[in-house]
Amino acid sequence: MIRLNDIIDRVNSYLYLNDGDVELIKKAYVYSAKVHAGQKRSSGEPYLSHPLEVSGIISEMKLDLSSIITGLLHDTVEDTLATSDEIESLFGKEIAYLVDGVTKISQLPYSSKKERQAESFRKLILATAKDIRVVLIKLADRLHNMRTLEHLSEERQMRIAKETIEIYAPLSHRLGINWVTNDLEDLAFSFINREEFGRLSKLITERKSEWEKHVDDIRTIIESKLMEFDISSEVTGRFKHIYGIYSKMQSQNLEFDNVYDVIAFRIITNSLKECYEALGAVHSSWKPVPGRFKDYIALPKGNGYQSLHTTVIGPFGERMEIQIRTRAMHEIAEYGVASHWTYKEGKLEEGGTYEIYSTLRQLLEWKDIQDPTEYMEAIKGELITNVLYVFTPQGDLRELPTGATPIDFAYSVHTEVGNTCTGAMVNGKLVPLNYQLKTGDTIKIVTSRDRHPSRDWLKFVITSNAKTKIRNWLRNEERTQSEIVGKSICERKFKQHGLDFNKLLKKGELQKSLAELKIKDVKELYLAVGFGKMSVNDLLKRILPSDKMDAPPEKESRIEKIIKTITRSSEGGILVRGYEDVMIRFANCCSPLPGEDILGYITRGKGITIHKDDCPTLHEVDRARRIDVEWDKNFEGLRPVRLMVMCSDRPGVLSDISSSISACDVNIAKAEMHADDVESAMGNFDVIISNLSQLENVMKSIKKVKGVKSVVRSNERERT
Ligand code: MN
Repeated sequence: MIRLNDIIDRVNSYLYLNDGDVELIKKAYVYSAKVHAGQKRSSGEPYLSHPLEVSGIISEMKLDLSSIITGLLHDTVEDTLATSDEIESLFGKEIAYLVDGVTKISQLPYSSKKERQAESFRKLILATAKDIRVVLIKLADRLHNMRTLEHLSEERQMRIAKETIEIYAPLSHRLGINWVTNDLEDLAFSFINREEFGRLSKLITERKSEWEKHVDDIRTIIESKLMEFDISSEVTGRFKHIYGIYSKMQSQNLEFDNVYDVIAFRIITNSLKECYEALGAVHSSWKPVPGRFKDYIALPKGNGYQSLHTTVIGPFGERMEIQIRTRAMHEIAEYGVASHWTYKEGKLEEGGTYEIYSTLRQLLEWKDIQDPTEYMEAIKGELITNVLYVFTPQGDLRELPTGATPIDFAYSVHTEVGNTCTGAMVNGKLVPLNYQLKTGDTIKIVTSRDRHPSRDWLKFVITSNAKTKIRNWLRNEERTQSEIVGKSICERKFKQHGLDFNKLLKKGELQKSLAELKIKDVKELYLAVGFGKMSVNDLLKRILPSDKMDAPPEKESRIEKIIKTITRSSEGGILVRGYEDVMIRFANCCSPLPGEDILGYITRGKGITIHKDDCPTLHEVDRARRIDVEWDKNFEGLRPVRLMVMCSDRPGVLSDISSSISACDVNIAKAEMHADDVESAMGNFDVIISNLSQLENVMKSIKKVKGVKSVVRSNERERT
C-alpha cells in the first residue's frame, strides 16, 4: 500500500506544495480514514488503501492539488455517511464539486450488453462530469479497481472488465493518456480473454531476453547514426502492450510471429527541427517501407498526439517501426490533457484554466474551435454543450441535440412512435410535446393509433430526422386528400354534363381516353386532378361530342339555388386548395356562414364537409382528415342558419318575429314554435343568410321584438 508521504513527495516533484497544502492533504487522509473506518475491500485490505492508491495514480497523472485531495475523498459520499455539505465545509466548494462529479458518474446506469451505445455513454460521462478532472479521477479510480479485480466474483470481473474496455479505455485514449489507456486495456483483456492473454504474455516472456539484446543492438546503431548527423537524442525500444499486439493481430489477421512492430523504437529529440533531421538520418541509413511514413507533427491526431512514424528495413533485415518526437510531444503522448496543466505554486496558473479548457474541448470533441466565444462557453459551462443524453423507459441511452423535444425523441426511437405520439411523460410527469429535454431525463412516449403528426410540430422539433418524417407523413396525407378531392371534382364535372363518372368508369368506357392522356390508372387521374395538374375537361372532351362540350352547364335560377341550399345538396362557394369544383356539403351542426373561419373534413365518398373551424364536432374526428378550405370571395350564395329564439308565450309573437326577420330583407325557410311551459316558448327559425353582418342584423332585429329573451344560432346553444 502506498504511503501518504510517497504521494506528497511525488506531487512535490511537479508542483510546489506549501505547508497549508500539505496540511489539507493530511486532513483529507484523516477524514477519509475516519469515515471509511471498519470498511474492507474485497481483497481483505482496509478500505482506505483504495483512496490512497487512487490518489497515488492521480499524482502519477500529475494532476492538481484539488484532484489529489479528491482522490482521497472520492468514495466518501457514495459509500459512507459523509455528505456533500460536510465535504464542502471541510475542504471547500471546488473539492466538494469534484467529489460530487465522481459520485454522479459512478451512479450512471451503464449496461454493457448494449455495445453500440458505448460512444454515447462515454459522452454521457463527459457531460455528467462537467469538469475534466472528474473524468481523470474516475479513470484513476477505475485503474486501481482493475488492478484489484481478481478479488471479485467472476461475473463482476467480466462486467467491469467489459465496461473498462468499452467505455473507460477509449475515454482515456481520447484524453491522450497513453500509459493509463495501455494499463486499462491490458488489465481488462486479461479478464475478458484469459486464454489469449496468457498465450501472448508467455510468447513475449519467452522471447524477451533475445529481444532485449536485439533492442540494445539496434538502439546503439540508431544512436551512433544520429551522432554522425550531430543530432542529440534519446533512443528507447519498448514492447507494445499486449492488447495493442492482440488488436493488431485481429485487425490484420496476423499470427504473433508476423507482428513485426512488437517493439517500437522511439527517438526523442530536443527540437522540432531535429525530428525531421532524425527522420532523414533514419531514412538514409535504412530503406523505408513505402506507405508507412506518417507525419503526425504536421497533422496531429484528434487527441493532440504528435509524432513522426516510419517503418524501415532494419540492420538485421527485419521491419522496425520508429517514432520520432520532441520531449514536449512525448509528454503529451504520455500524459495527454494533464500535460497541458500549467502550475504555479500548486495552483493552476492564472489564465491556465482558459488554456486547459480550450485544449480539452478540442480533445473531447475531436475538432478545432474557431470561435473564441465557444472557449468562454466551455470554461463557464459543461464540457459538452451541444448534445444531451436521455433514457428510454428500458434504460436505453439516446443522444439528441440540445433543445430536442419529446417528438424528436419519439422519432429517434421509431418512425411509428413519432407518427402516433400523443403525449410524453418525463421522469414520470406529463409534459407538453414542445418541452425541452434535459440530460438524464427518462422519457416515456404515449402513443395512440388514431393520432397523427401535426404541421404544428414542425415549429418546435429540431432534429432533421423528426422534421423529415413529419413532412413525409404530411405529404403522404396530402396525396390521400388530393386523391379524394380529385375524385370529387371528376364526379361533379361529369354530373354537370349529365354523366355518371363512376358508372362510366365501371363499364371501362374511360380506359381508352385515359390511355390517350397517358394516365395509367384512375388513381393517377384523381391525383392529377386533385393537385390541379390536369383539368377534367381534357377527359370530358374525349368522351362528349364537341357541341355538347362547348355548351355551358345550365345556370340555376335563384330560387333553385335556395331550394338546393335548403335541401343541402352539393353547392359552391367553397374553394378547396383554390378549386371550386370539389364536392362539398355544409355541416348541419354549425352551418358556417361566408366570412366565418372554416375547416373541411374529408368524408370518403361524400366529399368534404364544411364546418366552422371552432365547431366542437371537429375535435372528435380524425385530425388527419381535416383539410384547409376557404370561402370563394366571388361567390354570392345563400346559407341557411337556424336561429333559436326564447320568448314569452304571448299571442302574436311568432308573427312579430317573422316580420322582424322579413324587415331585414331575409327569407325564412321554416319557422316553428312551441310552448315550453305556461310562461315561455321556444321557436326555431331557418333563415336564408348571405353573410355574417346580415345575420347579426337579423338577430338584433329579433331581439327588439317584445317578449324575446334570447336569440342564438342553434350550434352555439349546443355548445353551452
Ligand atoms: Mn473508488
